[in-house]
Amino acid sequence: MNHAARVQSLRKAIEQHKLDSLLITHPPNVRYLCGFTGSTSAVLVGSFGSVFFSDGRYTRQAHDEVRGAKIIIAKKSPVSAVAEWLSSRKSRKSITIGVEADHLTVASFRQLKELVPKRLRLRHAPPLVEQSRLIKDAEEMEAIRAAVATGSRLFDRALEVIRPGVSEIEVAAEMEYAARKAGAEAMSFETIIASGLRSALPHGRASSARIPTSGFVVCDFGVILRGYCSDRTRTVWVGSAPEMARRVYSAALEAQAAGVEAVRPGATAGDVDFASRRVLQKYKLAKYFTHSTGHGVGLEIHEAPRVAKGQQEILRPGMVITVEPGVYLPGQWGVRIEDMVVVTETGCEVLTPTQKEFIVI
Ligand code: ZN
Ligand code: ZN
Repeated sequence: MNHAARVQSLRKAIEQHKLDSLLITHPPNVRYLCGFTGSTSAVLVGSFGSVFFSDGRYTRQAHDEVRGAKIIIAKKSPVSAVAEWLSSRKSRKSITIGVEADHLTVASFRQLKELVPKRLRLRHAPPLVEQSRLIKDAEEMEAIRAAVATGSRLFDRALEVIRPGVSEIEVAAEMEYAARKAGAEAMSFETIIASGLRSALPHGRASSARIPTSGFVVCDFGVILRGYCSDRTRTVWVGSAPEMARRVYSAALEAQAAGVEAVRPGATAGDVDFASRRVLQKYKLAKYFTHSTGHGVGLEIHEAPRVAKGQQEILRPGMVITVEPGVYLPGQWGVRIEDMVVVTETGCEVLTPTQKEFIVI
């Protein structure tokens, strides 16, 4: 990963926002900027370059992983170490330091404020690192493709295991075991296996409920490889499928295809949401589509951009998003179909394998 180039472009953004430096404490942002995969750490970026702070537990790991930053291992918390380092810099001029408003806790902010000299002003900064992370470079795409390939294969395992009477947790366990065997660092999120009535819950984590003899099973899953997440949803029917189930499935599929079709450079994230929602409106199912159409994926499972109603973020080549409309009929069942796509120069490429026909088990 070209950490030096990332720091360089962040420095430009810092200047544009009239800051002298930016304190980064959100672990995925720290990892993005210098490669460190541990937890307790901070990175300060400014005209002096990039300085990484952590504590004694991470001495070895920091020296193994951190690239493009000076390493300071302190006996105190990273925030206190940052304050000490800033205080020790001999300058009389007033300096403005941005902090990650979305991530730094109020307690840490107060602590920092108390510890730094008065000439240092702290300001809540917009999510500058997240802005850079929107566009994935070639190495990131390689990691994402690997995570997608490993993650997608778990559905084959699910198809072998899903049978009436098997618990949702058992299905998730078999998928997660297969993921680990295939080298996954972790699951991207708690595997969702939502069967029967529970399939009407958009976020039905696998429970002790047993797969019924008839009904949908929503499977939403992904793995982390080299720090990058994958995310995919497929929905299958168990037992003999009523016409209504087939109709709703095909409407969800059409909405999903329309969303994917709308992904192209220059379109807004809101356009993608609208394209999916419009199809469901046609079938009078829009009111049962109760969440947003998708989200960015990368070092985090949910990151910018949000693919939701009215979102003005312009899609650009290199952005990776999901398209995942769903239809949830309360008290009956639900369907969701989700793919990950990368925005290309001319449209988009679907990363997750495309097989999406109605599957009956
Ligand atoms: Zn998902
Ligand atoms: Zn998703």
